[in-house]
Amino acid sequence: MNLPANRLVVVGTGVAGLVTALSAAPRPVLLVGGSPPGSGGCTALAQGGIAAAMAFDDSAAEHARDTLAAGAHHNDHDAVHYLVGDAGRAVRWLQAQGVVFDRDGDGLQLGREGGHGCSRIVHAGGDASGQALLQALADAARRAPHITWRAPAWLDAIRLCDGRVSGVALIEAWTPPQELECAELVLATGGCGALFAATTNPASADGNGLALALACGARLRDAEFVQFHPTAMDVEQEGALPLITEALRGAGARLVDDQGRAVMDGHHAMGDLAPRDHVARRVWECRQAGTRVWLDATP
Ligand SMILES: Cc1cc2nc3c(=O)[nH]c(=O)nc-3n(C[C@H](O)[C@H](O)[C@H](O)COP(=O)(O)OP(=O)(O)OC[C@H]3O[C@@H](n4cnc5c(N)ncnc54)[C@H](O)[C@@H]3O)c2cc1C
Repeated sequence: MNLPANRLVVVGTGVAGLVTALSAAPRPVLLVGGSPPGSGGCTALAQGGIAAAMAFDDSAAEHARDTLAAGAHHNDHDAVHYLVGDAGRAVRWLQAQGVVFDRDGDGLQLGREGGHGCSRIVHAGGDASGQALLQALADAARRAPHITWRAPAWLDAIRLCDGRVSGVALIEAWTPPQELECAELVLATGGCGALFAATTNPASADGNGLALALACGARLRDAEFVQFHPTAMDVEQEGALPLITEALRGAGARLVDDQGRAVMDGHHAMGDLAPRDHVARRVWECRQAGTRVWLDATP
């Protein structure tokens, strides 16, 4: 199958792939996803919501300060300022695509999460933010005349010609791999969190897109930065563990040990709402010391 010379191929139908495909208009896009439209990936599982300085007493500067502190000032400063500076505009763009965020009276309802000095988490459907986002963006992409979907279809290989991407091989159910020519390619295939023994990520987050990119000579950046969310349900089961939203601690729940002692006391000035790496390390320390960690949500 030959595609128009300027056709962009986007692989991955989570929030990254959908936003890329929608933003590319009017350029024709072939959107390839491993799961049926509106499902799958990490996006479908995201709970708490999106951080954006939208309260009247909040600012992008304070959001940037919190983000830099949570990143132990190891962050890419330009990226931080770009992301926090544009967060409000991004939320409004999502609303224009059909995402309905939870409201509180006249304004958006803002939740509180770890590392943030104030309430600034915009959410949808309570703790079903990712599913609400995914559904609305998938619907918008289905309506968009410049986007053609191929899903479920799986990227199997990337072809190069003279050091440039020239094509992709796709696998669809029950058919042999099919080669497509391609002028440019965006891999929005998600991360590699599912490689860890205990994970909240779905099996599709196995880094296969990163591996395909590496195999054709791309350079990866910052792959060592993996976020460990402090609270997942400690249950014996195959696959992803259920995440317990940080919004619970934002609303007053506390992490305690077997004796009911608050485990974050004396460990960080922000206590249970310290940045995630601090809380995750403390939970790990407690477990190494032989005590389990509980989330006391009675408040
Ligand atoms: C339980 C949980 C809760 C979270 N909560 C939040 C939150 O509240 N707020 C927040 O900001 N972030 C949250 N996150 C993180 C957030 O979900 C991710 O950062 C974001 O969704 C990543 O989007 P993505 O499009 O890059 O990847 P994904 O949503 O994972 O999408 C990747 C897509 O690529 C497809 N794919 C992979 N390989 C191939 C291939 N070879 N061929 C074709 N398709 C392929 C997959 O099927 C999938 O559809 C959470 C994550 C988890 C796991």
